[in-house]
Amino acid sequence: MERDEMRKLQAVRLGRTVEYAYHNTPFYRRKMQEAGLEPGDVRSLDEIVNLPFTVKQDLRDNYPFGLMAVPMSEIVRLHASSGTTGKPIVVGYTRKDLRTWSEVVARSLYAAGVTRNDTVQVSYGYGLFTGGLGLHGGVEMIGGTVIPMSSGNTQKQIQLMHDFGAAALACTPSYALYLGETIRESGIPRTEFALKTGMFGAEPWTENMRREIEESLGIKAYDIYGLTEIIGPGVGSECACQHGTHLWEDHFYPEILDPATLQPVAPGVTGELVFTTLTKEGMPMIRYRTRDLTALHYDKCPCGRTSVRMDRILGRSDDMLIIRGVNVFPSQVESVLLDMPEFEPHYLIVVDRINNTDTFQIQVEVRPEYYSDEMNKIISLRKKISARIHSVTGIQPDIKIVEPRSLERSQGKAKHVIDNRKLV
Ligand code: ADP
Ligand code: ZN
Repeated sequence: MERDEMRKLQAVRLGRTVEYAYHNTPFYRRKMQEAGLEPGDVRSLDEIVNLPFTVKQDLRDNYPFGLMAVPMSEIVRLHASSGTTGKPIVVGYTRKDLRTWSEVVARSLYAAGVTRNDTVQVSYGYGLFTGGLGLHGGVEMIGGTVIPMSSGNTQKQIQLMHDFGAAALACTPSYALYLGETIRESGIPRTEFALKTGMFGAEPWTENMRREIEESLGIKAYDIYGLTEIIGPGVGSECACQHGTHLWEDHFYPEILDPATLQPVAPGVTGELVFTTLTKEGMPMIRYRTRDLTALHYDKCPCGRTSVRMDRILGRSDDMLIIRGVNVFPSQVESVLLDMPEFEPHYLIVVDRINNTDTFQIQVEVRPEYYSDEMNKIISLRKKISARIHSVTGIQPDIKIVEPRSLERSQGKAKHVIDNRKLV
């Protein structure tokens, strides 16, 4: 769809969504009334800026079902995300919402070259987490064959991937790395696997991580993005160009705002991603602040799709560490680490406060080929990585080299940071 046509469609759907939310959700009605808005006041996309935001705390305050826009008899599925603290976030889907979800995931799979002839191993967790069942519905919709593995039981994952001839794998990028490592150790030649494509998301990952996964599994690795509040995985996904994540903006209208002023920024400028759902029935979201930091690009993609493309998520603004006053994203550390062949792609950042000073430790594993008993070799490795991280982040880390395989391998969303300062 050309841009002006898309904008027309979005404007119509936005108007409907606002009216729908006003009449069916007391929470939105109250917020709009407080802002002096009538349901008919938002008719164009430019007027969206007049609408109040929705934030995670609103979902917590209305726990569990306060934001549903339909009677519970219309809700056919619940999902929840644990979040980090406090009550979980609960979302509800109508039958139509589940169809929409499967449709956007099917689009995502298709963009990555997956078709009805492919067997897809879904190794995201099944359950309240949206990853497993989200991908599952999409594979069924395109008519592929789904292996509903869920996460965990890594040996069996490898075995079935091999025996069932899985052509595509869907899981977190960190689990993909772990699976690659396990295949290598299993001694089964990679040529015996039919795997050619991966759909990875649910956590931030870097270009270097992509290269590492592609090499380790011998596949093409594509980004798939989403969040529970909006629908789950499949809010957007990458095409064969690997040139930004296409957002399925006929269902989810994106804005990028300056996180400080909350004013829109120009295309291509990084800021906070905000979504308004355009077709959701069960639990519409109006201007939901994701806290994810990225930029949008509206020029056409070589693949021919006209939908807007999103840069890799830099991280959530909540993931940003402030260490000795300097802003540090775990993705910066990851990027440096994965550029150095001497180290495994696993790491843990430990931050603490000792004698009123922040400490910044990074635990890393040296690859066996580079491991040495000689103290000076290890010291020079530490110096090398420390200098690179210093130049990227602006502060000097303390590098701790740990035993091979001692950092925990993740089967879901990886935990890369322990911040002990928050406990005090
Ligand atoms: P939780 O909030 O408990 O982690 P979700 O599964 O809803 O639950 O997490 C959604 C978040 O995960 C997004 O807001 C984003 O921060 C992150 N995320 C999801 N997909 C990607 C991706 N492809 N790249 C980077 N981050 C992602
Ligand atoms: Zn494209």
